[in-house]
Amino acid sequence: MYRLVCVECGESFPPDEILYNCTRCGHLLAVEYDLATLEIDRAAWDRRPLSVWRYREILPVSIPPVSLQEGGTPLYHLTRIGEDIGLPHLYAKHEGMNPTGSFKDRGMTVGVSMAMQLKKTSVACASTGNTSASLAAYAAKAGIPAVVLLPAGKVALGKVAQALMHGAKVISIRGNFDRALEMVHDLCLSHGLYLLNSVNPFRLEGQKTIGLEALDQLGGIPDRMVLPVGNAGNISAVYKGFTELVSLGLMDRIPMMTGIQASGSSPVVRAVHEHLPEVIPERDPETVATAIRIGAPVNAEKALTAIRRTNGTAASVTDQEILAMQRDLARKEGIGVEPASAASVAGVKKLLDMGVIDRDERIVCVVTGHLLKDPETVIRQCDPPLEIDADLPSLLSALQRS
Ligand SMILES: *Cc1c(COP(=O)(O)O)cnc(C)c1O
Ligand SMILES: [Zn+2]
Repeated sequence: MYRLVCVECGESFPPDEILYNCTRCGHLLAVEYDLATLEIDRAAWDRRPLSVWRYREILPVSIPPVSLQEGGTPLYHLTRIGEDIGLPHLYAKHEGMNPTGSFKDRGMTVGVSMAMQLKKTSVACASTGNTSASLAAYAAKAGIPAVVLLPAGKVALGKVAQALMHGAKVISIRGNFDRALEMVHDLCLSHGLYLLNSVNPFRLEGQKTIGLEALDQLGGIPDRMVLPVGNAGNISAVYKGFTELVSLGLMDRIPMMTGIQASGSSPVVRAVHEHLPEVIPERDPETVATAIRIGAPVNAEKALTAIRRTNGTAASVTDQEILAMQRDLARKEGIGVEPASAASVAGVKKLLDMGVIDRDERIVCVVTGHLLKDPETVIRQCDPPLEIDADLPSLLSALQRS
């Protein structure tokens, strides 16, 4: 059993109320379990497959979940990049290996399951791309219609393709993500669709399992968790999962939560560095990493708590640094990610150069989405294939040239 609790004023609401914000003060809601009475059998967790649903005792879903077998993603030791930059204990959790190719699936398996549990008959979201791809797939699995709003011209090709193919009603608005979110929020409140952006606290419940899996895979607690930050839901979610393990007595310290943004879209970084009480939105965010091209992060207040309470930090990286690390991950480690994902590892390199990170830290970077999500950005960075006549001499001379 759980309640919805306001992160600001502490007001609590019953579990079956459809709410996206506190009705008293307007701040964010979080799912709160009665952890004191919860008995977790750690060995039972270990016997289940590594997945979101391994941790079902600390998830809000009580019906059979709408699942596409999300989670259980690989944790890779980045040996070559680690050696290059001088970090022997650097890991990447490859969330691109989820069913639709991003960590959003962890949030959507829980979010769409909750839509069914709460007897909602249609779902909606605004998206920089991956949320829409994921929602479209999970709504298809649940057999209910989905509406998605995208910022026109700013969504990577693979993500639009997924949303369309899975049968969502896809609408492009002439405006940015932040505006799309306002619009879909209004639509859901006025017309009863169920809103599945990360302002929906159930999304974060699924996403918190990234951190829980990382602990289980590492067989211990990392010193630092590094995530790319857009709406700041994911970093908040991972932190929340850790605090619950601490309350359950299953963990005795929390990694330093570290958020990375693109320099053209970095309101959270600014708030951290300038010790601001809250994030000041940016009007015109811009970055090649479209998944984190967000000026007004919805979950900023939760993320600032996560970063500050764990003695973590935030940093920004340029588009050039992001793309260079996308190539390094692909070529030195065999890990194909979209640009936003590479921001986490690029951020580690930068923080190390700045002397913020110690060389002996054990660090888990979350790489959030798959390379094939954004093929156009990939193609722009690579030389095109050589085209030759279909004979061996031409092949040999082509190989000599390249
Ligand atoms: C959604 C997304 C992010 C940002 O996550 P937030 O929870 O919005 O901070 C980063 N990378 C990818 C690939 C994403 O899809
Ligand atoms: Zn409140």
